[in-house]
Amino acid sequence: MSFDTLGLAPEIVRAVKAKNYETPTPIQARAIPAILAGQDLIGCAQTGTGKTAGFTLPILQRLMTGKSPSLRVLVLVPTRELAAQVSDSIKTYGRFLRLRTAVVYGGVGYAPQIQALRNGVDILVATPGRLLDHMRQGLVRYNALEVLVIDEADRMLDMGFLPDVKTILKQLPAQRQTLFFSATMPPEVQRLANEILKQPTVIEIARQGTTAKNVKQVVYPIDTARKRDLLIHLIDKEQMGQVLVFTRTKHRADHLASQLERTGKRVAAIHGNKSQAARTKALEAFKRGSIQVLVATNLAARGLDVKGISHVVNYELPEAPEDYIHRIGRTARAEAAGDAISLVAPHEREQLRDIERLIGEKIPQTTVEGFEHHPETHTDAPKRSFQSRREPNHAGRGRGTAHREGASRRFSQGSERSVRTPRTESAQHRGAGGEAGVPRHEPRPHGHGPADRHPAARVIGRRWSSN
Ligand code: AMP
Repeated sequence: MSFDTLGLAPEIVRAVKAKNYETPTPIQARAIPAILAGQDLIGCAQTGTGKTAGFTLPILQRLMTGKSPSLRVLVLVPTRELAAQVSDSIKTYGRFLRLRTAVVYGGVGYAPQIQALRNGVDILVATPGRLLDHMRQGLVRYNALEVLVIDEADRMLDMGFLPDVKTILKQLPAQRQTLFFSATMPPEVQRLANEILKQPTVIEIARQGTTAKNVKQVVYPIDTARKRDLLIHLIDKEQMGQVLVFTRTKHRADHLASQLERTGKRVAAIHGNKSQAARTKALEAFKRGSIQVLVATNLAARGLDVKGISHVVNYELPEAPEDYIHRIGRTARAEAAGDAISLVAPHEREQLRDIERLIGEKIPQTTVEGFEHHPETHTDAPKRSFQSRREPNHAGRGRGTAHREGASRRFSQGSERSVRTPRTESAQHRGAGGEAGVPRHEPRPHGHGPADRHPAARVIGRRWSSN
């Protein structure tokens, strides 16, 4: 199949070809005709599947006729990174059209956004909190709205944005086309979809919990204290290209970045405590290839789209198994190949089991000579570093940190200990001024039942087994 056969206008096909896309991805092949036909849509799609073009191309086609500028399309996204990315995609695919796109998200000044809204837009991409701020100022009018896109609805839920989304929804015309995307379908997200979609076409590209298909996954069992040295060893030995390293906390991201920097690597860290300017700068440098290693918290697990990430490293496993899928989906974008490496300490074995249950496969394990892990003698106590000549031994500190984090996790989960939730990271971000760039007055994550966080949540009228 080619883009020429999808019923898209020549200007749009030209823009797609200029991006060197030869064939539509599966979600594009199925979503584009349905959206062009004016249907509501639920897209349950794997990360990196090309869903942005899947909804953007037919929307652009719709906007080619009619009055411009008038706000006809609203795209709601959970994070500012995704907002910036979606708006860039719209501009790229719409480069041969005369349409105005604006993007509004928190963490940056209001003035340019207000100006853009006043100038008039056709497509508005927004995070919910900042959009509500602008709505309260009377800057956004929806009388001409025709299409609503909700992207990464499950992430909206995780980040506590569903109440804001519902407030926005109340202001929108009932007569519209609604396109709803979510990687997973927890009951609360499913309920929202049921409420707002009219006889939707359901497109499910990959079974929930399926990992990006071209990613080679491997686990290195390793003591916490030796992770850093193993990482350095792997970056060098495997001659890794662009490496995205995930840590669980902002502090650890900064700490690891400076440790890697001391070994001469070109590194940056991104997380919710960094200013938007610093985050953008680091991402740009990573995209250009002028830094090799980007250390990130889960913030970057969704949305971030950097071509040529050869390796994703889980320096620490994520708290929520679903985030593993989003993290490793940062490599092997759009059918390319990539490697996902997880450094797993003994105290993370339970998380590893949850991940393997979710993806329905056992991840192969391997060791590197000099970095073997000996379970029978093991206490997870950090040992003297293999490469300790490079730096003083941080063993004591590493151990203390691990214990402190364990304690705080238990505390934050309270009586829901057995339920894993991505909330820890989100809550941290919000505490630091909002990972998604939302103002502090935005609602905290609300309580939702354990089923909402269970990996084996329902997918559109069907049940998947988690085992
Ligand atoms: P998305 O899932 O929308 O974040 O897209 C993932 C990546 O796939 C982005 O880098 C897109 O530029 C790229 N992409 C989207 N559609 C295609 C296509 N038909 N052929 C090749 N690459 C694509």
